[in-house]
Formats: sequence, C-alpha cells, structure tokens
Amino acid sequence: MKQILITGGAGFIGSHLCARLLKEGHNVVCLDNFFTGSKKNILPLISNPFFELVRHDVTYPYYTDIDEIYNLACPASPIHYQYDAIQTVKTSVMGAINILGLAKRTGAKVLQASTSEVYGDPVVHPQTESYWGNVNPIGIRSCYDEGKRVVETLFMDYYRQNQARIKIIRIFNTYGPNMMPNDGRVVSNFIMQALNNEDITIYGDGSQTRSFQYVDDLVEGMIRMMATGDDFTGPVNIGNPNEFTIRQLGELVVKLTGSRSKICYLPLPNDDPKQRKPDISLAQNKLNWNPTIQLDEGLQRTIDYFKSISY
Ligand code: NAD
Ligand code: UDP
Ligand code: UDP
Repeated sequence: MKQILITGGAGFIGSHLCARLLKEGHNVVCLDNFFTGSKKNILPLISNPFFELVRHDVTYPYYTDIDEIYNLACPASPIHYQYDAIQTVKTSVMGAINILGLAKRTGAKVLQASTSEVYGDPVVHPQTESYWGNVNPIGIRSCYDEGKRVVETLFMDYYRQNQARIKIIRIFNTYGPNMMPNDGRVVSNFIMQALNNEDITIYGDGSQTRSFQYVDDLVEGMIRMMATGDDFTGPVNIGNPNEFTIRQLGELVVKLTGSRSKICYLPLPNDDPKQRKPDISLAQNKLNWNPTIQLDEGLQRTIDYFKSISY
C-alpha cells in the first residue's frame, strides 16, 4: 500500500486518478485549492478512510511523507487559465518547484502532467516527443504553454542535478465525466449546447483538428508511466491518435444527442493550434499502452454524465 499525493486531485482528471488509485488499495492524499476543481468530483471518495483531502495552494511549500506524487495542479481550460494568467504561471512554476523539493526530500517518484500545448501550433504532424514545438512566448496562451514548458525543464534539471525520480507525460485533449459543464472546452461546450438545443459554437471554420482521448485511457497511461524504472523519465505522449476536425466533433455530438441544435460559426481565438495528433509509438513500446475507448463510446458516456447532472 503506497502513500500517493495527487495535486489538483479534485479536478476533472485528478478525481478519476484518485478513484482508481484508491480502488487499487493505496492511501490517497488529494491536494487542491478548488480553483477549478470541485468537492462534488470527489464526493463518492470522501467516506473512504484511505482518502485524505487537503485544501492547499501548491505555490506555497507543502511538507509530508509520501511515496509517489502526481502533479496535476493547474487550470487546463483556456477560459480558466487566461482568467488570471499570472497566477497560472505561478501555479505551474512555483508549484512544480515546491513539488520537486518535496520529491527530492522524500525520495518520492513524481509525475508531471504536461501537455500537447508544449508543441504549440505544430508544424510537425503527428507530434513526436523529439519535436521541440512552435510556441508563441508572448501570446494569450503563453501563460499555460510556456509555464508547462519551463516545468518540463525544471523536472529534467531536478533529475540531472538532484537525481529526483521524475516522469513527464504530455497529455493530449482529454474528456469525460467530471468535466465542468461551463469550463469552455470544446467537448463540454458542444454537449451542453446540444442537450439544451442551443447553437453549437464552432470557432473559426471548424477545420482545425484535435485528437480526443477518453479519461480512463489517460489514467491507465499515467499509472503505467509511474510504474516504469527510474532511468525512464519521458516525456511520453499520452493521447488517442484518431484525429477529428472540430466540425466533425460538432456533427457527432448533435447525432449522438439527437439534438435540434444548429451549427454556428464564431471568430477563432488567437494562436489556436490548427492541428494536433500524437505519435504514440513511445507509449506503445515503453508502457505497452494503447487507448481502448473510441470517440463514439466515450462521448456517449460523457453525454450520459452531463444528462445526469443537468436534469
Ligand atoms: P482541471 O482544471 O479540472 O483540474 C485542475 C485542478 O488543479 C483543479 O482541481 C484546480 O482546483 C487545481 N488547482 C489549480 N490551481 C491550483 C493551485 N495553485 N494549488 C492547488 N490546486 C490547484 O483540469 P484537468 O483537465 O483535470 O487537468 C489536470 C492537469 O492535466 C492539468 O495540469 C492540465 O494542465 C493537464 N492536462 C489536461 C489536459 C486535458 O485535456 N484535460 C490536457 C493536457 C494536460
Ligand atoms: N519544499 C516543499 N516541501 C518539501 C521540501 C521542499 O514544499 O518537503 C519546497 C521548499 O520550500 C523550496 C522548494 O520546495 O522552496 C524547492 O526545494 P529545494 O530543496 O529544491 O530547494 P531549496 O530549498 O534549496 O531552495
Ligand atoms: N472550440 C470551438 N468551440 C467551442 C470551444 C472550443 O470551436 O465552443 C475549438 C477551439 O477553438 C479549439 C478546439 O475547439 O480549436 C479545442 O478547444 P479546447 O479549448 O477544448 O482545447 P485546446 O484548444 O486547448 O486544444
């Protein structure tokens, strides 16, 4: 039985990870400041005696004894990370320094939830881990993208300088139950709009692409990455390589919900990446991992979840 810390544990992905690790028989400490996370996400876990909830902001030091750390604390939706861009950088960077300090002191393994955003608006397609990316350092997405990039640097420097036991995964667009209905990301927006028979808001002409991963597949990849030996640090892409245009996603959501919604077109936000698709050969080889839940099935499960909370 391990003592496992999950920062950002009350968020969308964190809540699934907490549940899975508890199910595997570990002690789970969920640390969160509830900026975008919610107690509702972890309500089913609260009565479990092996689950601990800590209200704390990762930009401040945190001391405990721990075996493994999953560092997820950071708002992930563009609306939320742009709401207080400076705080987003602080959360990423100061949070990572504190968590790495904790890992160094305790000898714990520490996994960073990095992102496909480190590739920016990629000119290499699909994206392999060896691609250095095409990121605007001064734009509206930079607080998130550059924050995550410097955290990867910090993780590698704690590994080289302090022999910290680090792991980096680059997560591609992930969706599923416990996403906030109003957090502005495309899957939750489209499902809520479809369920309410409101216009489906496509930004730009909808030809930009994303590759959508169901949250259970991601959690499996995270756990497999954590279990690798200390000589393997990553970064490793974790995502579903099936690529869809945003227009295709809108049409699929309308079909699956049986909605009367029409598609409408709004301006494309600045620096919106035109394409994104992971090359997952490294995860396949090193983790023996593959995504198993495809978009139709994952969307159906997510639609059922949103129905259960909105009616
Ligand atoms: P989320 O917003 O639902 O979860 C983030 C959690 O971090 C929330 O519970 C929030 O309250 C908490 N948090 C924010 N600032 C904090 C602080 N200063 N101290 C403590 N807690 C803080 O987002 P998510 O989709 O669950 O993403 C989790 C992680 O995965 C993030 O680091 C994100 O960058 C990364 N990621 C997510 C995706 C995706 O598609 N969902 C893709 C790539 C990377
Ligand atoms: N830190 C922490 N918990 C710990 C150990 C360290 O929050 O258990 C913080 C500490 O406050 C410091 C940061 O992590 O600001 C980095 O720690 P490190 O030991 O790498 O650097 P130093 O303390 O030498 O600046
Ligand atoms: N998007 C959209 N309509 C929405 C929300 C998002 O067309 O209501 C687009 C957005 O411009 C982007 C894609 O969908 O091209 C994915 O957006 P999201 O914010 O979910 O993730 P990210 O851009 O970080 O991949």
